[in-house]
Amino acid sequence: MPDYTALLAEWEAALERRRELGQALDFWTAVLEGWRSWDDGAVEPLVWRPEECLSRWTRGVPLMADAVLELEPASLEDLLGPIMERLAVGSPGDAEALRRFAEAWDGGRLGPTALLPTSGKDGVAVLQEEVGLPAHLAGFLSHAGLRPALERFLSGTRGLPEGAWDRGSCPWCGGLPAWGDVGEDGRRRLSCHLCGGAWTAPRLRCPFCETWQSGDMVRLVAEGAEEGYFVEACRSCRGYLKGVDRRQRWNAGAPVVEDWASPHLDVYATRQGYWRATPSLVHLLPPEGGSAA
Ligand SMILES: [Zn+2]
Ligand SMILES: [Zn+2]
Repeated sequence: MPDYTALLAEWEAALERRRELGQALDFWTAVLEGWRSWDDGAVEPLVWRPEECLSRWTRGVPLMADAVLELEPASLEDLLGPIMERLAVGSPGDAEALRRFAEAWDGGRLGPTALLPTSGKDGVAVLQEEVGLPAHLAGFLSHAGLRPALERFLSGTRGLPEGAWDRGSCPWCGGLPAWGDVGEDGRRRLSCHLCGGAWTAPRLRCPFCETWQSGDMVRLVAEGAEEGYFVEACRSCRGYLKGVDRRQRWNAGAPVVEDWASPHLDVYATRQGYWRATPSLVHLLPPEGGSAA
């Protein structure tokens, strides 16, 4: 089971190291505290046999596309409320979109499953067409709201066999990876912050457009970045992923901690003209010309 108290302790240590970014990083402290305090009483782990999981993975289907997670909307409100308040100060347009989201949520027109990447047309259509919630705000809400429930729900299904999964997205929840580690064995592991999953993936393949053109992948190293940290970017779709080489930085923290504590690398990659698929503080900065995070 996930230990969010330990994760929060790692986060506090990261804040110490990155004191110059402190104020901005408090945004995520509140999210991590919410995960730690969340009452998961009602979520029962998914019980699927390894063959049941494998039959989806070999067809390229993430487990959440078929599994049903029953979640009371009210159970997520302590996680969604505080982040919505913080996001609403971004711009009047964002505040208005979040108000419409809250209205649809309270009216029962959308609920927790609309925030899942596998919710398909229904969830996405309601979020974007009816509520007009910009994709980056939807990403913040889903990451802040769903992680503890998904991590508990999927806890019995993490045994992904070598070579069983061929897609760039998460084999469990279908979300896009938010971080890439290079491990002791030199292999690359992608991480999903939405459900806490991590899986081995080829280093020369872009997880976003799934191109195999090795010449399309470039490694950017931001000036002033600490040794071992890097940004991998795709020249084909221009998506990027930050990461750390754990052979050079053995004491690096959990992927979500390392990612959320390094928004300066996102600012760098964004200024180089690349985009990232998962929420980052860089998405809350005013467009070009604004101050750095
Ligand atoms: Zn996931
Ligand atoms: Zn790509």
